Amino acid sequence: MAKQFDVVVIGAGPGGYIAAIRAAQLGLSTACIDAASNSKGAPAPGGTCTNVGCIPSKALLQSSEYFEYTKGHLASHGIKLKGASLDIDTFLKRKDTVVSQNNDGILYLFKKNKVTFFHGHGKLNASVDGGWSIEVSGQTNESLVARHVIIATGSEPRALPGLNFDEERILSNDGALRIPSVPKKLGVIGAGAIGLELGSVWHRLGAEVTLLEAAEQFLPVVDQQVSAEALKLFKKSGLNIQTGVKTGEIKTTDKGVKVPYTDAEGNEQTLKVDRLIVSIGRVPYTDGLGAEDIGLKRDEAGFVVVDDECKTNLTNVWAVGDVVRGPMLAHKAEEEGVAVAERIAGEHGHVNYATIPNVIYTSPEIAWVGQTEQQLKNAGIDYRVGSFPFMANGRARSLGNTDGFVKILADSKTDEVLGVHIIGPSASELISEAVTILEFRGAAEDIARICHAHPTLSEAVKEAALAVDQRARNF
Ligand SMILES: Cc1cc2nc3c(=O)[nH]c(=O)nc-3n(C[C@H](O)[C@H](O)[C@H](O)COP(=O)(O)OP(=O)(O)OC[C@H]3O[C@@H](n4cnc5c(N)ncnc54)[C@H](O)[C@@H]3O)c2cc1C
Repeated sequence: MAKQFDVVVIGAGPGGYIAAIRAAQLGLSTACIDAASNSKGAPAPGGTCTNVGCIPSKALLQSSEYFEYTKGHLASHGIKLKGASLDIDTFLKRKDTVVSQNNDGILYLFKKNKVTFFHGHGKLNASVDGGWSIEVSGQTNESLVARHVIIATGSEPRALPGLNFDEERILSNDGALRIPSVPKKLGVIGAGAIGLELGSVWHRLGAEVTLLEAAEQFLPVVDQQVSAEALKLFKKSGLNIQTGVKTGEIKTTDKGVKVPYTDAEGNEQTLKVDRLIVSIGRVPYTDGLGAEDIGLKRDEAGFVVVDDECKTNLTNVWAVGDVVRGPMLAHKAEEEGVAVAERIAGEHGHVNYATIPNVIYTSPEIAWVGQTEQQLKNAGIDYRVGSFPFMANGRARSLGNTDGFVKILADSKTDEVLGVHIIGPSASELISEAVTILEFRGAAEDIARICHAHPTLSEAVKEAALAVDQRARNF
């Protein structure tokens, strides 16, 4: 006999698990199915984000930052350490512990919110009386019927044609987070957010890292002034970043990987590395979901087609997160999950796609929300710019971390903040104030008149807002 639910969510990444919790909070009987297992075969809910994405990458970025700081910067604070060295096993194990704490946390939250969890693969079978029949197979075998289905099956790394991930020499994000020893030479194909973050981890530990990027412009989606500053600072830190390259046929040998490429000047080059991370984007994942059998519409790239409310072409079948259009970000997936659960419950779920923040967790961090200067120019919008360097911020000087700046773009006539771009210390945290201002359609003057604690990095945001009106006080 099939178990009946109001809502069944397939996938327990940030889109799926958050959708399930919100649905249960709204009084809907809810189940969530997830296939991921840890190395012991136990459930590992949390998706890409928890297992091989946001969380483990930030754990390793933090540890590698401490290592680099200990070796390079502590002496300037008068702290002398001799012989700091890396214990790679502990370095990797700590990351695994952080991941499993998050897996366990989600299982606890499911219990707390009365979400029934099924560990296995979910397949949509057919439309039946009362909803959709779903088969769970693998670790658990169950038949379910759901009034509403939320597909949150996420994404997987895109491979280069003819070059499979072996996770030994050719690494996806998964393998890149568990390299057993620091490679002498590491190559990264793709200098986007993920490539830069993963490259930074191993560079900070001592690897010679070369990033090869096909696009001519570095970080083309980022405000150009910020991307130029980032390129300058990353190169200064020792990352070898080459843009406008065309890679040829990549060959692996027992000793390493050979990457032939044509550089931006048209010269033939060969990069020889111990390991190669391929980070050229991600593709939606719907394997084994039964999409063809039930007529679920997907586009040419494999994304499940949804409308503005995340409804698919099938009645009461919704889809959220990386498997649908829009930025592949955990917090975008979460917002969509919440909105869909609320719509199912008859409420007015809402996602403002214009105020989704973006963060790149490099040193320095890069964060932005809203429009870039190039976008405003292209749209013919008159704007004013205010910027403020961290060099002139007292807290940044105390930290010894003065690279970068805050840049605010505001409408010339109304002063409404249209975009905020930060490169510098704790940019990932500072951007929240900007998101709030954009969400409330606030003005630069609003930020300028809000009292910011002193001494804080957030004063740089206030000063940039003052600079929009050319009245910055500390620069
Ligand atoms: C290295 C890296 C770093 C990242 N860092 C960040 C970051 O700092 N910030 C950020 O916002 N985003 C980051 N991301 C992106 C983020 O991880 C994704 O946007 C997010 O995980 C998408 O969530 P999701 O719920 O849509 O899918 P996923 O997290 O991919 O989860 C999908 C889940 O569905 C399960 N599943 C799939 N099919 C089935 C099925 N048929 N039955 C049962 N289970 C199934 C999968 O096993 C998986 O557990 C990063 C990604 C990577 C790779």
